[in-house]
Amino acid sequence: MSRTCRLVCRCLTVAALFAGLAAAEQADWIWSARYVITEDARHRVIENGAVAIRAERIVGVGTKAEIDARFQAKQRLDRPDAILAPGLINTHTHAAMSLFRGIADDLRLQDWLEKYIFPAEAKNVSPDFVRWGTRLGCLEMLLGGTTTFTDMYYFEDVVAEAAKEAGMRGVLGETIIGFPVADNKTPAAALAFTEKYINRFRNDPLIVPAVAPHAIYTNSDETLKASRALANRYGVPLVIHVAETRKERDDSLAQRHMTPVKALDTMGVLTGRTVAAHCVWVNEDDLSILRQRGVGVAHCPSSNMKLASGVAPVVRMLQLGIAVGLGPDGPAGSNNDFNLFEEMDLAAKLQKVTSLDPQALPASAALEMATIRGARVLGMEKEIGSLEAGKRADLIMVRTDRPNAVPMYDPISQMVYALKADDVRDVMVNGRPVVRDTKILTLNEGAILQKAAEYRDKIQASLK
Ligand SMILES: [Zn+2]
Repeated sequence: MSRTCRLVCRCLTVAALFAGLAAAEQADWIWSARYVITEDARHRVIENGAVAIRAERIVGVGTKAEIDARFQAKQRLDRPDAILAPGLINTHTHAAMSLFRGIADDLRLQDWLEKYIFPAEAKNVSPDFVRWGTRLGCLEMLLGGTTTFTDMYYFEDVVAEAAKEAGMRGVLGETIIGFPVADNKTPAAALAFTEKYINRFRNDPLIVPAVAPHAIYTNSDETLKASRALANRYGVPLVIHVAETRKERDDSLAQRHMTPVKALDTMGVLTGRTVAAHCVWVNEDDLSILRQRGVGVAHCPSSNMKLASGVAPVVRMLQLGIAVGLGPDGPAGSNNDFNLFEEMDLAAKLQKVTSLDPQALPASAALEMATIRGARVLGMEKEIGSLEAGKRADLIMVRTDRPNAVPMYDPISQMVYALKADDVRDVMVNGRPVVRDTKILTLNEGAILQKAAEYRDKIQASLK
């Protein structure tokens, strides 16, 4: 080989090396773990896996070796003994009610609502209450691995502001109810408020505004129809409580000769994206309506058990292909916390004990309900709910080194039956780390806890 030729060869080798480096794709983060639970269409669980993130999206999922070879990341988080999973999705809650946590327990829903909650709300709910209550709720949810919450409350614009401050994703519905409440004195005012609120947040990267008529028994038919029309006008979801108690079903049968689901369908309320919380007292005809209309069901096992509301036919819903997610519901007396690990565990066990079948609702289905099926309930399955390239980077790292987590034979079983919310160590929402090594990065935890104590004294005094 001539000297010139050797020089050319050497230059080519150097050029090839540079080309190789340039081919490495840039990423902002690589998170790696012992197991990556993807919840993708093939339900892959990747041992020694990793996820690459660029800006707000996932750009690669694979083995750690594959991801490391393909991406160059500015920052990384390697937890060789943890589980990396999609952020958990709460499909029904009332975050600001955290300030009423435990205010009245062990009561019937109607008594709890009418004797305690509605009066306590009338005296205490203000924008400041909602802001601090939502901060407290988001703090608890994020530390426990929930990255998206579906909310229904008053001053929902303030809920949205607090959620954005926390860096949390929210499908947030302004409550519309047939009596005067803290923010709006009439359903017409609530509808006007909601339209303004939708316009303010509808292009937000974290917030999906929603219309939330409280229930069929707290609203006139006209208000329910107007709520649906408003939701459809802007293409936003409608969030509502449906068939939660036997009384709701019986009253509907007595007054309308129809079940609540049938009545809502007859009014046209289910024609568009609907998130129906509870759906406990539903018959086979109701289920076929829910399926045909593509209604998403928010199953709330803790709430249904604590208020003795009954047992939703979740196994049957899943058989029919209805989208079913999980929700902790309210913290004020119907739960009293925001813990999706607990809801997964209880959802599985509640179906088993009531059907006397230990195979009913296996762990894999419970975890799907807290992730990809929950995303389907919200109509967001193309954006969140699984770890796949192109989706929003909402992920959680769960430690598996504590006594309740060893040994581990099956990471999915461990997630549902053994791991707890406080095993969550790191959380990312929309590409932004919001919890790092169990510490919240976005909110002032000390100030929130202090404010909660102050509100407790104020609320207690207001009820005397
Ligand atoms: Zn509720």
